[in-house]
Amino acid sequence: MPCFICTACGMQYAESAQAPAQCVICEEERQYVPPRGQTWTTLPALRQSHANTFREHERDIIGIGSTPAFAIGQRALLVRTGKGNVLWDCIATLDEATVTLIKGLGGIDAIAISHPHFYTTMVEWAQAFGARIHLHAADRAWIMYNDPAIELWEGETKPLWDGVTLIRCGGHFEGGTVLHWAGGAGGRGVVCAGDILTVATDRKWLTFMRSYPNFIPLAARTVEHISAAMKPFAFETIYGHYFDRVIVKDGKAAVERSVARYVAAVEGRRGYE
Ligand SMILES: [Zn+2]
Ligand SMILES: [Zn+2]
Repeated sequence: MPCFICTACGMQYAESAQAPAQCVICEEERQYVPPRGQTWTTLPALRQSHANTFREHERDIIGIGSTPAFAIGQRALLVRTGKGNVLWDCIATLDEATVTLIKGLGGIDAIAISHPHFYTTMVEWAQAFGARIHLHAADRAWIMYNDPAIELWEGETKPLWDGVTLIRCGGHFEGGTVLHWAGGAGGRGVVCAGDILTVATDRKWLTFMRSYPNFIPLAARTVEHISAAMKPFAFETIYGHYFDRVIVKDGKAAVERSVARYVAAVEGRRGYE
């Protein structure tokens, strides 16, 4: 039986004879059902209609995105840390070329995903590479395709191994997670942020929302919590969820000033009233 994939959010569902009546993710206020209505595909069909492109952001961080764009359009990151490779976030398209190329780069030891919008075909990736999947337990209700490879973690931080830490920020989703790699950016540290912290179009600032397509903001205290959760970590570069959304330098200061601007705006302080 096929495992249907929602074409609007990329979520793959457990096998079923017929496509689900609705996509649970798209029916919820943080996503949307497109005007054309709900449609479905499968991984074999996606391999015919889409392929992946790769971009080396820095020596050991390679972006992987679908061409043409599929569903939400995010790109994943292969983070090669020396102690193991992590696939950060996930994309639906997984074809033979991608498997061959990534195996040539050392494969994938762990898959970690910021939030349910990017779960996509995580189980297919885990099976192809023999990887474990690390998801925050607070978002367990949004897992549509369960598998023994999925490990739920609880609490505020989880080291994958030395120098690689998952940080629960919350916000966009209750279990919203970012990845910190101390060895990235030539040892100055990187954060892979998904859209838990969204790199803005100017690539100087970040923003934080409950829903991006439906423009639902977060409370000031929720965004202040994000900044507090990241306080103990040093980093230079922030990788957002699209190829071109990267803050290369001074990422730590960008988080601090962006949280201050966000709070000033939602609280209607001077300049934002
Ligand atoms: Zn969907
Ligand atoms: Zn999202």
